[in-house]
Amino acid sequence: MTIGIVETAARLARETLAPRAAWYDRDGVNPVESWRDLHRERLLAIGIPQAQGGLGLDMPTYVAVIRALARGCANTAMTLHMHSTVMKFIAALGTETQKRRYFAEVIEHGRLFGSWGSEPAVSLSRTLLMETAIREAGEGFVVDGVKHFCTMALGASQYMVWCALDGESDMGKALVLALVPADATGITTDGKWNTLGMRGTYSPAVTFAGVRIPREAILGNAGAAVQVGVVESFGLGYAAIYVGIAEAALDFAIDYAKKRVVKPENIAIAQDPTVQRHIGNLAVRLDAARLVMEDSAARWDGADIGERGNLANKAKFLATETSLEVTSKVIQVVGGRGAYKDYPAERPSIACWRRSARRRSESRRECSGSAAGPRGPERSTRRTACDLRLGLFLRCSWRCSRSHPWPPPRRPWPAPPPTSAPSTAPRPISSRRA
Ligand SMILES: Cc1cc2nc3c(=O)[nH]c(=O)nc-3n(C[C@H](O)[C@H](O)[C@H](O)COP(=O)(O)OP(=O)(O)OC[C@H]3O[C@@H](n4cnc5c(N)ncnc54)[C@H](O)[C@@H]3O)c2cc1C
Repeated sequence: MTIGIVETAARLARETLAPRAAWYDRDGVNPVESWRDLHRERLLAIGIPQAQGGLGLDMPTYVAVIRALARGCANTAMTLHMHSTVMKFIAALGTETQKRRYFAEVIEHGRLFGSWGSEPAVSLSRTLLMETAIREAGEGFVVDGVKHFCTMALGASQYMVWCALDGESDMGKALVLALVPADATGITTDGKWNTLGMRGTYSPAVTFAGVRIPREAILGNAGAAVQVGVVESFGLGYAAIYVGIAEAALDFAIDYAKKRVVKPENIAIAQDPTVQRHIGNLAVRLDAARLVMEDSAARWDGADIGERGNLANKAKFLATETSLEVTSKVIQVVGGRGAYKDYPAERPSIACWRRSARRRSESRRECSGSAAGPRGPERSTRRTACDLRLGLFLRCSWRCSRSHPWPPPRRPWPAPPPTSAPSTAPRPISSRRA
């Protein structure tokens, strides 16, 4: 573990990211200004190997950095994690020429890369299937299809698009990762993004119509993407984000409970045994989730692909459950004021997310069972579906309360530089880039 970089991330989160986090959530835009700060601190290169000029963080340091950033701005942490996972795919599958080219875009120019697999007609929670097709055409390839939940659309410079070669349905042979430049002709979006939480992970649907890319934009051979032990790391990074969110939430609740004095006793609610029991209970659970996550990260390098799936599953399952519980109980500790927009407590919108989280947690439990079961192709198909399920986000957003004055300001957040509002008409992807 490299402590210095974790401290840098924690400082950046506290001093720079947190004060902007509410603004990104309110307006549902890419956290471009925070990406620039990440670039300045070299944090956009955490997923790039040292041999290629990056920081090449080991997994324990990586999750510690993502967790520290999530305490300040979950949107920034999530987009960095998506981007860094693309870097790991390039490191694992790319040619030397591709690595030189794409890593330079990040290290020298501060560009970001998105990863788009989800599609409207397919449930990745059940099946690894891509309807987006890629076909050879002359010297290069052509991409056609529709992706949804395209995080960093209009913001990243390259999109790693998960495609099926020639529209094949056997993903073991046909899955192709194509790096499509954001300004390629034939990409459009309706720009719609109006969600409950994590609104700063701007993720509208995007259509690819006859998008031409060169042969050098393809990463590895068809089917190779699920054989390099990178897809599993999506889930471990999500765990780090959820732990960071929950830690910030609990810090906020403790701070609030110490400062909220009630009549007639004129004592802080922190002295109430019920509040103390809630906080103690949450602190213990959060410690457990963090320890499991750190244990998974510590064992990562020595684990094979199957083991990595289980390590990430465990960490993400516990972090998701714990984060939901912490954010939910924090609302109870704070009381009705927890719903004030001025307070960070309202932002995860707990009740709605909880239902979907339950379903996902249940299916993750089934999934863990199946991964330990059959061998051979059946096992591998199920495990791959399971890994992809790790890609499902339960997302909620929090900002680090400690960086805010108390009581919270009533005035609006200072506006960052003006941005173009998403329109409803399809338009080329071009704005709010890093
Ligand atoms: C904020 C946010 C950002 C995201 N960013 C990205 C991104 O950058 N890249 C990306 O690729 N994806 C992204 N995603 C998409 C995420 O991975 C999707 O949520 C996911 O792919 C869709 O899975 P789901 O479980 O949410 O919904 P669905 O798969 O649609 O499932 C909905 C429900 O239907 C049930 N169901 C599914 N299939 C069946 C079946 N065959 N029979 C019966 N029931 C079924 C499920 O159990 C579930 O209860 C993002 C999502 C969010 C919320």
